[in-house]
Amino acid sequence: MNYISTRGAAPVLTFGEAMMTGLARDGGLYVPEAVPQMTQAEIAALAGLSYEDIAFRVMRPFLGATFTDDEFRGLITRAYAGFGHDARAPLVQLAPNHFLLELFHGPTLAFKDFAMQLIGQMMQAALAKTGDRITIVGATSGDTGSAAMEAFRGLANVDLFILYPHGRVSEVQRRQMTTPTEANVHALAMDGDFDDCQARVKDMFNDFAFRDGVRLAGVNSINWARVLAQVVYYFSSAVSLGAPHRAVSFTVPTGNFGDIFAGYIARKMGLPIEKLVIATNQNDILDRAMRSGAYVTDGVKPSISPSMDIQVSSNFERALFDAYGRDGAAVTQLMAELKAGGFHISQGALQMLRATFASGRCSEDETTATIRTAFVRTGEVLCPHSAVGVKVAEDHLGTTPMITLATAHPAKFPDAVESAMGTRPALPPRMADLFSRPERVTRVANDLAALQTLIRERIGG
Ligand SMILES: *Cc1c(COP(=O)(O)O)cnc(C)c1O
Repeated sequence: MNYISTRGAAPVLTFGEAMMTGLARDGGLYVPEAVPQMTQAEIAALAGLSYEDIAFRVMRPFLGATFTDDEFRGLITRAYAGFGHDARAPLVQLAPNHFLLELFHGPTLAFKDFAMQLIGQMMQAALAKTGDRITIVGATSGDTGSAAMEAFRGLANVDLFILYPHGRVSEVQRRQMTTPTEANVHALAMDGDFDDCQARVKDMFNDFAFRDGVRLAGVNSINWARVLAQVVYYFSSAVSLGAPHRAVSFTVPTGNFGDIFAGYIARKMGLPIEKLVIATNQNDILDRAMRSGAYVTDGVKPSISPSMDIQVSSNFERALFDAYGRDGAAVTQLMAELKAGGFHISQGALQMLRATFASGRCSEDETTATIRTAFVRTGEVLCPHSAVGVKVAEDHLGTTPMITLATAHPAKFPDAVESAMGTRPALPPRMADLFSRPERVTRVANDLAALQTLIRERIGG
């Protein structure tokens, strides 16, 4: 199994290499050269299996020779052992033909745990074979950083540094980053906003002497291994509703397009998915693009579903690559136009995207109203991101069962939930001591040289 870049001008890599590389050297994103197919019989045979067994069967064909079967089984088992629900990704019913896939039972209460826990195990196992060490530096507005801290803490061959904007993440998110006690994970509270944090991480990747010196690696949402881990729950949920004998649709609260792109891969593998519905908040660039064909940026408006407050959905490039007949030069051209403000999707490409994806937008008031009405009608407490999904799904209900992805636990966004429902959602009992654990964090200035010195000192010691 080989991986190629969406811009067509980077080296072809194995799975293990693509995982360690992240962004391709031509600026593109890695995708499989060909998507492995599962037959109807193979999909039907997933019914009744554990989440871990489904994960093995769905992901194995993408891995090539990077791990043996036994190694990979062990990594999957360890990745999901810390989840707070035996089903890992349980499905609950909201209405006669509407289901909610709860992806928030991982250690940091957001769906990002599914991919981050596995990529932590896979990176450590690959590094242990060669004896190499890497340094991962990431910027976060909250969920990615906490998921990464949980996934990488205590791993022997990895040092992890997470930069978050001081004073601008929620208390639950901050404590999830500052309370792990292992020496290889480092929470850095930087003066500035999320864009400043991201800019300093980019600077470090562009400083080749530093990059090579500390063996810098990334785990942001464009990493192919993260997308792959998210393909699994499309299979587990669809099969439990009768696939492959019955088709299903999905609605996915979308920011960077990683989660919904995993659904696109599941569909390409042969899972009968009728429609994949993109649900956006008021930052609706994707919904506008699907309706008009014009993909034009117009600034981020902060919302009550902050993990979806995104200007440019980086993983959308992967969908465009297929929609343009896998023409890397065409994608390179579009991305150059995007730097200057936007581009128009060609008629042919738009037709191809609309055959798979539908879309909708949910305003701030609709998000709040949906949290309230879902609770009254079903007793389910939604986080604001999941509420965006539920609202858009309701606009797309039909005869095919609809599965909406619930991307975070309501207790991760207690203020928005409380203002919608009047009561404050509680953390699951297994995390109730989060507020009494000691915090460990280093306050840092928005200064590249100082950050680089700190990182070198911490890993050199
Ligand atoms: C990251 C995130 C999203 C958006 O997922 P993408 O893969 O970026 O589209 C939605 N909801 C929550 C809670 C998240 O943390």
